Amino acid sequence: MFFWFIGTSIATIWFVFHDKKFVYRLVVAGALAPDAIEVFLGHAGPLHSLVTMVAIMAVVMLITYGRKKSRSKMLAFVIGMFLHLVFDGAFTNTKMFWWPISGLQFGDYALPVFDRGLINIPLELIGAALLYWTYTKVKDTNA
Ligand SMILES: [Zn+2]
Repeated sequence: MFFWFIGTSIATIWFVFHDKKFVYRLVVAGALAPDAIEVFLGHAGPLHSLVTMVAIMAVVMLITYGRKKSRSKMLAFVIGMFLHLVFDGAFTNTKMFWWPISGLQFGDYALPVFDRGLINIPLELIGAALLYWTYTKVKDTNA
C-alpha cells in the first residue's frame, strides 16, 4: 500500500540503472500517485490502465522535446506510475488494464490494493526490506 510501492519501484530502478543521480523521489511520487488520486474516485480508474500510461508517456515525450532535464524528471514520475501498475498487479484485471480498448465503460472495480486485503501486510514488509536492501547497495556504490 505504501512501502510496497516505494520499495519495489526504487529497487527496480536501482537494479536496472545503478544510477545514484536518478530522481528517485519522483519515481516514488509516480508509484504512489495512481492510488493516491483514485482513492477519491472510490474505484479503480484510468490510472490503472496501460493505455493511459502509454498516452501520458507520449505526451511527456512531446512536451519535453529538446528539454533534457525536465524530460528526465517527468519520465521518472511516469516510470513510477508504470511500476505501480506492475506491482499492483493491475494486469490481472483485463478490462481495467486495457481500458478504453476493452470498452469505454470502466466498471466498478475496487483499487487492487483494497482487493488484496491482509496480503498487504507481508507486501509492506517486503517493500520495507527492499528499501533497506537498496539503501545498503546505494551506500556501498561509488558511482
Ligand atoms: Zn493501484
